[in-house]
Amino acid sequence: MAFPITRLRRMRQSEPLRSLVRETLLTPTNFIYPLFVCPGEGVRKEIGSMPGVFNLSVDEAVKEAREAKSLGLGGIILFGLPEKKDEAATGAWAEDGIVQRATRAIKKATPDLVVIGDVCLCEYMSHGHCGVVEKKGKDYEILNDPTLDILAKTAVSQARAGMDIIAPSDMMDGRVGAIRKGLDTAGFANTPILSYAAKFASGFYGPFREAADSTPQFGDRRSYQMDGANVREAMREIKQDIQEGADMIMVKPAMPYLDVIAEARRRFDLPLAAYQVSGEYAMLQAAIKNGWLDRDRVILESLQSIRRAGASMILTYFAKDAARLIG
Ligand SMILES: [Zn+2]
Repeated sequence: MAFPITRLRRMRQSEPLRSLVRETLLTPTNFIYPLFVCPGEGVRKEIGSMPGVFNLSVDEAVKEAREAKSLGLGGIILFGLPEKKDEAATGAWAEDGIVQRATRAIKKATPDLVVIGDVCLCEYMSHGHCGVVEKKGKDYEILNDPTLDILAKTAVSQARAGMDIIAPSDMMDGRVGAIRKGLDTAGFANTPILSYAAKFASGFYGPFREAADSTPQFGDRRSYQMDGANVREAMREIKQDIQEGADMIMVKPAMPYLDVIAEARRRFDLPLAAYQVSGEYAMLQAAIKNGWLDRDRVILESLQSIRRAGASMILTYFAKDAARLIG
């Protein structure tokens, strides 16, 4: 039926009519709030390039977890800044590691809040890469297979501390299988894996490196994170992680890769997450601060676009703000 029988504006006349036919809805349970846990007590240090985001000592992280719970968020995800870094990523898997301590404290304070553990080595390695590095004169290589054991060990130690979900973000080949095997062997067959399945080497991670103090000391991450040009390869990455036992999959970053999210939603039936990364947050915050964009509208519109593309869960630094806006 063509105009004038069909008038698409009929259903746009009022907010009640628009809500009635709204296709994409946001709820606080869609949002996962990232926390950066650091040593000390009473520490709440704002990250310069991410206004409103902090390095938090364990006691402060517990306060954030309580707030996340009271706002009805889907969960939180923990990143750690260890006391010291070395070439074996000891801080990642130590029983008293920063993330392990935070997990125990948070699970004690808010047992019902879903706590997700980011599993990677870059925050704990002195060189800042996500895997074991072999130096060959001026050249270097990130070794895949020797990294898998350390990742599995990290996942098991997080599960032991009470972590609800394990989320490997390193992009080594075979890590999901290695982690699944490690968890099962250690008695954690029921701990789910949320795999950062399609994680692209992205300029939008800049502010995160300040937040997690994880800038590579040499080179970059292009030999393991994905080339931003490749959507078909992203589907192969996701498929492989599913075959290795991933329970949920993730695309990262979100807004510059909405087509990848949409394609993953079309092809795979697993719960799908997307990470609205630090650069996406910083970009919006900068424009909001300058009065160039309307804060409330762009926060919700950016999240809605990610949901519309097909992500059911969104890792976002706006989680608390968005939950309050939806109210
Ligand atoms: Zn990493």
